[in-house]
Amino acid sequence: MPAKRRVEKTQARGQRERRGEPPLPAPPSSLRHVPEETLGSMAPGDLVFLGESESLRSAVESIFFAVLACPACGALGLITSAQYAGLAPVTCGSSQCSCRFRIDEEGQFVHLPLN
Ligand SMILES: [Zn+2]
Repeated sequence: MPAKRRVEKTQARGQRERRGEPPLPAPPSSLRHVPEETLGSMAPGDLVFLGESESLRSAVESIFFAVLACPACGALGLITSAQYAGLAPVTCGSSQCSCRFRIDEEGQFVHLPLN
């Protein structure tokens, strides 16, 4: 029953607001390619290709392929083309977050268990 579901959602949001917390956006399930101008304000799951920016490209070691904001915490990290292609897992570099995932062929994040 769609009407009832909407009411429950509104109540859950109200509880978070009463505690002074902003509503949580759902974590992204797939990466989103964004332009390099977005680098300073990337949201979780956003990706910027290093090849699109001469200043980035020259500042970063050539084995890296893109900047990816961790889909769980939003921390920026560098990934290689093998990681982008899903051949190697990506581990978040933030000490606050232990997110480990793989990027599948459609750009979906596949979360992996920690070792
Ligand atoms: Zn993270």
